[in-house]
Amino acid sequence: MSFQTEIAKRRTFGIISHPDAGKTTLTEKLLLFGGAIQEAGAVKNNKIKKAATSDFMEIERQRGISVATSVLAFIYRDKKINILDTPGHKDFAEDTFRTLTAVDSVIVVIDVAKGVEEQTEKLVEVCRMRKIPMIVFINKLDREGKDAFDLLDEVEQKLGLSVTPLSFPIGMGYDFKGIYNIYERNINLFSGNSKKNIEDTIAFDDITNPQLEKIIGEKAALELRDNLELVSGVYTAFDRELYLNGSQQPVFFGSALNNFGVRELLDCFIDIAPPPKTKMAEEREVKANETDFSGFVFKIHANMDPKHRDRLAFVKIVSGTFERNKPYLHVRHGKKLKFSSPNAFFAEKKEIVDISYPGDIVGLHDTGNFKIGDTLTAGEELNYKGIPSFSPEHFRYINNADPMKAKQLYKGIDQLMDEGVAQLFTLELNGRKVIGTVGALQYEVIQYRLEHEYGAKCTYENFPVYKACWVEAKENNEEFKEFKRIKQKFLAKDKRGQLVFLADSAFSLQMTQQKYPSVKLHFTSEFG
Ligand code: GDP
Repeated sequence: MSFQTEIAKRRTFGIISHPDAGKTTLTEKLLLFGGAIQEAGAVKNNKIKKAATSDFMEIERQRGISVATSVLAFIYRDKKINILDTPGHKDFAEDTFRTLTAVDSVIVVIDVAKGVEEQTEKLVEVCRMRKIPMIVFINKLDREGKDAFDLLDEVEQKLGLSVTPLSFPIGMGYDFKGIYNIYERNINLFSGNSKKNIEDTIAFDDITNPQLEKIIGEKAALELRDNLELVSGVYTAFDRELYLNGSQQPVFFGSALNNFGVRELLDCFIDIAPPPKTKMAEEREVKANETDFSGFVFKIHANMDPKHRDRLAFVKIVSGTFERNKPYLHVRHGKKLKFSSPNAFFAEKKEIVDISYPGDIVGLHDTGNFKIGDTLTAGEELNYKGIPSFSPEHFRYINNADPMKAKQLYKGIDQLMDEGVAQLFTLELNGRKVIGTVGALQYEVIQYRLEHEYGAKCTYENFPVYKACWVEAKENNEEFKEFKRIKQKFLAKDKRGQLVFLADSAFSLQMTQQKYPSVKLHFTSEFG
């Protein structure tokens, strides 16, 4: 098969949702279509349960599971589909943000009863900013939920999207009869039995056909016709260009648990979703079909076995082919590295592969060479644009609790930060180290891992910070000099050496912005 064909057949995407909306269930059903797994239940749910937040072993176990489910690949109708796992738990939101830099499109799952929830809002915002094509799947139609039109409104308002339904439910909950597939113009009836034949659809090109009454009853037929009329009156018709540039989001309805509406979603997805895209490096744009390999690290996973400190670096291939045992340039280190056992992922397994293509993810064994955002190439000095950091929610000083093990502690902190477990800030005033995290859970993970993987002990001390803001200012500006003098106590460097202002309250942040208007404060490290 030609290189071009290999690229054209790949679809690399992520499923995002608020926990419990049905992401795991949907993933599992999608895998079933690829024949990648034999039965339901094979995709392990790697969400961290609330009750387990202080159980270290539980954390470790969960982390282990997510290695296996980090990338799930399968073949469906001649397409190679790569699903990148995105943890729904908010303490791991950073992980998800980084994974979103490696997807070409996204499916957003929303619970029909709960509507748009907090995590969905945050994750969709990131996708919207990056103009990632999104398809919305409204799930759990077998249950009573919100009215379809109200929900579509909510999606538009809260998520700032511009939707167009490509399927529409016939009834809901107890009265759920099925869905009309606007994209394929057919009806799929719901029997409430997950074993039912999912190919079983009734073509319905003309919705005014009186056959409709016979099939779904008079009342439902009338309602469906009204609804479809409203849909075509209110929403702009589906336009693939708009979808691809992030300006329009098609919506499907269904029930993942009952495997209902999932085939419709998948069939449309492989038709419309983009193959691997052109990506911006700092130097230039890189096209997927360039012959020379390039890719970047978007995730690093530590080994479960504390005796082997090796890690798995996940590389998204942007261009060219990645081949086993070929030397590639690690651009940040300026040295060539060879990989004798690159892992590819298939269903819930990983295996060594000789060659991988744009859109694919390879897992490389690493002993500490990589950090998140690193670029690998066939030789060109390319740097894929950094993966942004967002302001952490929690901040604590980290102290060394064992003076004999200072070296181990710093090495451990360094490597854990490379993995993206948390963010490190070094105070300008006194060089003290502050760890910023998205969730309190990370502090336990860090302490545990420092002890078990690096033999170092740490303690934490509260450091009341409201938000970390990345500072942008002209170097010799008088106002900036004064800002630095007056705010010295609140200034730190992040791991890349960028200046960060640690505001202790929303009020002081506001005052600072007013007092030093020429000093720009950003909530993410990616600006300009
Ligand atoms: P995740 O946290 O988003 O991965 O959600 P899960 O896939 O684990 O689903 C959360 C819960 O919702 C589980 O108990 C599922 O069985 C249930 N669920 C998922 N899809 C459906 C559906 O279509 N209908 C109903 N009634 N329940 C569902």
